[in-house]
Amino acid sequence: MPAQLIDGKVMAASIRRQVANDAAALLQTGLGIHLVAVLVGHSPAARVYADNQARTCHDLGIRYSLLELATDITQSRLNAELARLAADTTVTGIMVHLPLPAHLNTQETQYAIDVLKDVEGVNPANIGHVVYGHTIIAPCTALATVELIESTNVPLRGAEVTVVGASRIAGKPIALLLTERQATVTLCHIHTRDLCVHSQKADVLVVAVGKPGLITAHHIKPGAVVIDVGINRVAAANSQGHPVEKTVGDVDFPSVLPVAGWITPVPGGVGPMTVAMLLKNTLRAARLVHKLEKPF
Ligand code: NAD
Repeated sequence: MPAQLIDGKVMAASIRRQVANDAAALLQTGLGIHLVAVLVGHSPAARVYADNQARTCHDLGIRYSLLELATDITQSRLNAELARLAADTTVTGIMVHLPLPAHLNTQETQYAIDVLKDVEGVNPANIGHVVYGHTIIAPCTALATVELIESTNVPLRGAEVTVVGASRIAGKPIALLLTERQATVTLCHIHTRDLCVHSQKADVLVVAVGKPGLITAHHIKPGAVVIDVGINRVAAANSQGHPVEKTVGDVDFPSVLPVAGWITPVPGGVGPMTVAMLLKNTLRAARLVHKLEKPF
């Protein structure tokens, strides 16, 4: 029997409805939700993303502002802007669009985001809180991955989980959150000697690498949950044979489908859930800022 699809779009839609209801309840009490997205420079791709974000926030009753800063802004000026947003009591959430121009330091910038308003969970302090077992706000892709796995009802406690890819943004936070769920986690990366040894024992396999077709049927334990975080644009042909681009993950979906127990599609899996988690974190940040929830 082929694997069951884990539908990230359906799950994300349900989370958005919940966020809209919770946001309406918060607004009724007179408390605001205001997300400020910082965009340095004039990247057209980031602008499109920001416009989509603005629309989504508007639909859910969340105030959204885009703070556009000059490409040549200095690090200290950017830090000062983030400090100003941290001190502004009308701002409940802050995020910084990446990539930043080369002269700016991403990590220093992320350090400057207020910990309680850090809706993407990228301030290293927030990762530290996850390590200490009292999460304030966790990174969105890691949260998305956990929710997708939990939707299968496959218990994480004691499960063998292999995470392929160990970046700061994806693999490491995913491994941390899954460790918090008491899974036995193996974290693989480019220097892992024999990926198959680790992937074949996994009850849950998470792949976050950025290489299309990296994971094929022979990597998979029959019945495993497979979460494909990868997003890759590859050349393909349309039905008339004309060259087009399409989006695929890191998992060779057709070969893995008959072997896995559950699988996320790309697109339509982790991607929409990551956006939904950003919205959920935005609500959490507002509740933290308004002291309706404790950090831990
Ligand atoms: P990255 O390049 O920063 O890290 C890639 C990781 O994969 C590294 O740890 C590297 O050691 C490891 N790796 C590379 N080749 C490998 C191999 N052959 N075997 C095992 N490990 C290998 O990438 P990233 O930013 O973590 O992103 C990874 C992928 O996830 C990309 O496709 C990205 O677009 C996608 N992504 C998706 C979302 C989402 O919301 N769906 C969010 C973040 C990243």
